[in-house]
Amino acid sequence: MPDTTTDTIAAISTPLGEGGIAVIRVSGPEAVAVAGRLFRSRTPLEQVPTHTVHYGFIVDPADGEPVDEVLVTVMRAPRSFTREDVVEISCHGGVVPVRRILELLLAHGARLAEPGEFTKRAFLNGRIDLTQAEAVIDLIRSKSDRAHALAMRQARGALSGKIRDLRTSLVELMAHIEVNIDYPEHDAEEATAALIEERCRAMLEELGRLLAGAREGRILREGVVTAIIGRPNVGKSSLLNLLARENRAIVTDIPGTTRDVIEEIVTIRGIPLKLLDTAGIRETADRVEQIGVERSRRALEEADLILFVLNHNEPLSEEERGLMARIEGRPSLVIVNKTDLPARLEVDELVRRFGPDRVVPMSALKEEGLDRLEQAISDLFFGGAIEAADQTYVSNVRHIDLLQRARRALEEAKGAAEARMPIDVIQIDLRLAWEMLGEVIGDAVSDALIDQIFSQFCLGK
Ligand code: GDP
Repeated sequence: MPDTTTDTIAAISTPLGEGGIAVIRVSGPEAVAVAGRLFRSRTPLEQVPTHTVHYGFIVDPADGEPVDEVLVTVMRAPRSFTREDVVEISCHGGVVPVRRILELLLAHGARLAEPGEFTKRAFLNGRIDLTQAEAVIDLIRSKSDRAHALAMRQARGALSGKIRDLRTSLVELMAHIEVNIDYPEHDAEEATAALIEERCRAMLEELGRLLAGAREGRILREGVVTAIIGRPNVGKSSLLNLLARENRAIVTDIPGTTRDVIEEIVTIRGIPLKLLDTAGIRETADRVEQIGVERSRRALEEADLILFVLNHNEPLSEEERGLMARIEGRPSLVIVNKTDLPARLEVDELVRRFGPDRVVPMSALKEEGLDRLEQAISDLFFGGAIEAADQTYVSNVRHIDLLQRARRALEEAKGAAEARMPIDVIQIDLRLAWEMLGEVIGDAVSDALIDQIFSQFCLGK
């Protein structure tokens, strides 16, 4: 990824395809000049005040032919997303005019932006820190209201604020120690060790709180990976369809290597569930038997949540008893489906084994029991805790790893202080913790890492 920030970049910022309008974004020192070469309106673009919108036409300077009727927004540095001069051209959403305008911009002085390059510039120009930039990725990808709210909070800097406070405490502590290394007296050394212990304890508590929210954070961001398992014909697809219909599923096609894997996301009480395509759900009946077992096994390993579906109208089979043993200790619900039919299943035994809260009777056919199921899922995962408004969730794997490393360094420092080890040894661990925290917000990150993070963006962001 070129990292000169002196050139002017352009890209289509809206998804490609047929839409009402599309936006092409231009950023850099020549943004207004480049767009001005193509834009015809009452006032030349270079003369308009900042943060104003102008109606006119994009014209090909080669032949004077109008390409599209557009609205052009001018935002001059530094009050723009990238802190550079930014021009946004809103044109008609068809693929042809959008491409044509982009080509003209590229022919008249702009360079095609790399994926994430707009956001990268915002970061490099100090407008946002790294956690905020990563939150922009999440915002683009967020699949549920709660995940969206989480990403918004992070974009506003909730996590960065906490990390900065921790780093300030560390710097104060390190400064205090520095003074003692220069003027070592026995009394002062004793007092310093006690202070280090106390401060480390407080910082470890805060880190512990941040890390405790990490699992929920990941789940909110990526969805609860959910496997619906059970023998053929117990009603797995009926349940899936019912969940999907009642909860506005998003179905996405992900091109796989051998075939297209279909992934459905449903939102239950604000919690996104990512439903795995497990045995029997989409296979024809005769193929189920062969591949069902292997698929179920894999799904069982991957899942955050297992919905084990049984038929109320049939006694437990050997196979089902085997599955029960394997899911017992996992986050799982036993769904007793087909309650509209006569009872033949050993429901009492299931209740004894899994507890009454984890056995959910329902009829997918009659659409009964869905409320109870949704409540059980919500209880199982969050027990209401997720509602706490001021919780800051760490949802990003990179952040979690760094916070864990910072925690280990602080634990070392605390242990060394307790053992009254030489203070300059302790200083090394404190410094390490400080650096790890710095990497979370991008104060000490390498160019390679920055490139890697920003390359996850789509074009035009
Ligand atoms: P799967 O093989 O586990 O995916 O099962 P399906 O969802 O395809 O359902 C198998 C059969 O059971 C279908 O004929 C469904 O209509 C029927 N079925 C599903 N749920 C219920 C239910 O709650 N009550 C009754 N009576 N039949 C159901």
